[in-house]
Amino acid sequence: MAEKIKTTCPYCGVGCGVIAAVDDAGHVSVTGDKDHPANFGRLCSKGAALADTLDIEGRLLKPQVYGEAQSWDVALDTVATRLQKIIDEHGADAVAFYVSGQLLTEDYYVANKLMKGFIGSANIDTNSRLCMSSAVAGQKRAFGSDTVPGCYEDLERAKLIVLTGSNLAWCHPVLYQRIVKAKRDNPDLMVVVIDPRKTASCDIADLHLAIEPGSDHVLFNGLLVYLHEQDEINPLFVNQFTQGAEAAISAAGQVAPSIESVAGSCKLDKTDIENFYRLFARSERVVSIYSQGINQWSNGTDRVNAIINCHLLTGRIGRPGMGPFSITGQPNAMGGREVGGLSNQLAAHMDIDNAAHRQLVQDFWQSPRIADTQGLKAVELFDAIDQGQVKAVWIMATNPAVSLPQSKKIQQALEKCEFVVVSDCVQQTDTTRYAHVLLPAQTWGERDGTVTNSERRISRQRAFLKAPAEAQPDWWIISQVAARMGYAESFAYTQSVDVFNEHAALSGYKNSDALNDLCRRDFNISALSELSLQEYNDLQPVQWPVIKNSSVASGCRGTKRMFADGQFFTDNGKAKFIAINNPPRLNSLSEQYPLRLNSGRIRDQWHTMTRTGQVPRLTRHIDEPFVEIHSQDALRRNLQHNALVEVSSSQGRVICRVVITDAQKPGNLFMPIHWSEQFSACALVDSLVDSVVDPVSGQPEFKSTPVTIKPCPVQWYGFIISRRKLGELDTDYWTCSRGEGGVWRYELAAQQLPENWSDYARSLLCHTSEKAEWSEYHDVAMHRYRAARFENGRLQSCMFVGSDQALPERGWLQGLFAQQQLDSVERVSILAGRPAGPQQDAGRVVCSCFNVGINTLLEVIQTNRLVSTDEVGQLLRAGTNCGSCLPEISAILQSSTH
Ligand code: SF4
Repeated sequence: MAEKIKTTCPYCGVGCGVIAAVDDAGHVSVTGDKDHPANFGRLCSKGAALADTLDIEGRLLKPQVYGEAQSWDVALDTVATRLQKIIDEHGADAVAFYVSGQLLTEDYYVANKLMKGFIGSANIDTNSRLCMSSAVAGQKRAFGSDTVPGCYEDLERAKLIVLTGSNLAWCHPVLYQRIVKAKRDNPDLMVVVIDPRKTASCDIADLHLAIEPGSDHVLFNGLLVYLHEQDEINPLFVNQFTQGAEAAISAAGQVAPSIESVAGSCKLDKTDIENFYRLFARSERVVSIYSQGINQWSNGTDRVNAIINCHLLTGRIGRPGMGPFSITGQPNAMGGREVGGLSNQLAAHMDIDNAAHRQLVQDFWQSPRIADTQGLKAVELFDAIDQGQVKAVWIMATNPAVSLPQSKKIQQALEKCEFVVVSDCVQQTDTTRYAHVLLPAQTWGERDGTVTNSERRISRQRAFLKAPAEAQPDWWIISQVAARMGYAESFAYTQSVDVFNEHAALSGYKNSDALNDLCRRDFNISALSELSLQEYNDLQPVQWPVIKNSSVASGCRGTKRMFADGQFFTDNGKAKFIAINNPPRLNSLSEQYPLRLNSGRIRDQWHTMTRTGQVPRLTRHIDEPFVEIHSQDALRRNLQHNALVEVSSSQGRVICRVVITDAQKPGNLFMPIHWSEQFSACALVDSLVDSVVDPVSGQPEFKSTPVTIKPCPVQWYGFIISRRKLGELDTDYWTCSRGEGGVWRYELAAQQLPENWSDYARSLLCHTSEKAEWSEYHDVAMHRYRAARFENGRLQSCMFVGSDQALPERGWLQGLFAQQQLDSVERVSILAGRPAGPQQDAGRVVCSCFNVGINTLLEVIQTNRLVSTDEVGQLLRAGTNCGSCLPEISAILQSSTH
């Protein structure tokens, strides 16, 4: 009988509940939790593949100090001693923590407490700075607190949903599926998508505004003006509960004086804008969802406030089916904010700049000191490392060598940093290679604690696997270092519930309802501050605030919506309109770099692929880095679809495939963020991005990098399939992905021919065994080379090379690796480059849940003359589980002619 544990998906900010079932043989299966209010049993392709990510291959299993495996005692002593020495010699601000939205709230809390209350610096920042700090800053400016007002249920209760700067279908698929269902149940629900790209989310759009990148604030300023002119405002709400409306409307009038001017700035059709404005004005229940497409700009905070202004003017906030809704990227970006994981925050939603808050937190912690000025934000922090001001950095559960702008500069900064500690569950990342001390952390399935999703819902992540070897929880690792720095008494936690209770108690400490109380604040979960271990283990998903008289124990589920009473957390309790002007454009296009590069996520990958990159069915959706370009731009530059191109900016260059698509606007490119140097030769998109940040939030401008693009001519293309992972390859272009059966597939290309193909192939494929048999075929005239390596009759690796991309299908070759022995016919077929018998390659995977490839889909659609996704689902099951692939199947149906 399998044991079933309820836990939470570790990927995105939707925070889906999952059930992990572990059978007697230790086999794990993962399904959606039907009782979890975030997803009601639904999972996306990444969540549905979670069980495939639990392999311990590649895990960091033992502490390492300067490259040597060491005991925990030695490693912890080294970290504590080195940090303390640097603090003694150079002051507290010479050390820093760089943490992550992947951490659990308990881990985050302890890290923040050690840095701000005991080391006495605020130099702790988080990778959440990169994805949602503009949303935090915008909410703080408007509401006086970092509060998401609404909840997911509002998506079902809305009449209009505006999706802006958010490809929800790929980045938060379960929320997208909730909207799809809501629209099916209520055909009157309208959806407007505002995005320069025609993304998968446009599949449900009643109106798609393919806006000029960077002009969202003009569109929403224009909406503010329109609402005012049409008298579509809520005067009672505006007069009683807000301030600054007049100034905001006046500024909006300067930026967007007329619909014609908005149409000009946003490069949109005037009628489309009128339709959007009219819809917004007439729909009382309107939810505006926004995400990285709004946040990741050098005026991201202003964009957030431009959206919030429209909701304040209409009073559409705090009631069912309405409100501005920031959707977070990471699983615990919200939890990190609750404990003060950003360098400009204190704990429990308090402010470093507020002396009363500092006193309160110091009293509560009984700490020897408290940071009294804001710390360095992520980009500043790594600049300070580069310049030698910060001499020690402890990086936890994140990969800044890939994910920060100017990633090559980040790598150089880490290279020269005096002392780098990395806590991670993975041995080899682009960041761990710079670590002087590596600390093995637990990962999903082993960790125990809480996370908070985008609707303020706190859920338990529960352990269902024993941690391998010496991996430990992050809160334990940090507490052990704190103890060795002399703070044992204040960090004497023995289990995660101890940390959670303290965190919950701090949230309620001197927190009051009195409007004029300087310590009044939104985040309060004090009802949960005395949980027994059993109660903590049984904790049900609950939305904060959770205060005494609305405790889970009494059957009340926290707080669905905030601000229904019109009371905000500003100094006078009124929400603030923010006047939004035109920003100075920092990242300007030029003759040398005339195109604008946008970056973002793809459907089946997560962050730097350390987890999802191990799962064949996820990598087969899109298995190589690419850049999307409009056909006009491609034609002008003589680019061929799927050829290799070089994209360069003032900061660096990458090589990847080009995808020509009219889903892009002319003048704009898109690249995914996921490929690190563990998975590609030269595709680090953030090596192109400059460190231009929003002056309020410190969030980098990932959405607008000036670049140029040109063909990348190569003399040969090839691929390798290998049972073992190869090291970095000596070619201009390579990428690797995991194939079925655990094999590794490499795609290669280079500008130079090797002197001798046979020697070159052996240098890549032969590494240990002398027993290996070697078969090869070389057609000099046709520029073809093929080789296969066997051990005891079993295929170990093969390599195919040609002068163009017309290489054999990879699918059937991967299938041969599943066999124990290959017969002579099959061996010959390898060198012939085609299967011995009739076989059809299913092609690139579209439906990851049921492994349905594009070729299979096309054939079945054509043969059966299918016209709907339901019909496809009936015949192939594709799209019937998580639904993440439905927009793509829709697009395939549309492009298929019967
Ligand atoms: Fe996980 Fe997908 Fe749910 Fe996000 S939407 S939490 S990735 S299952």
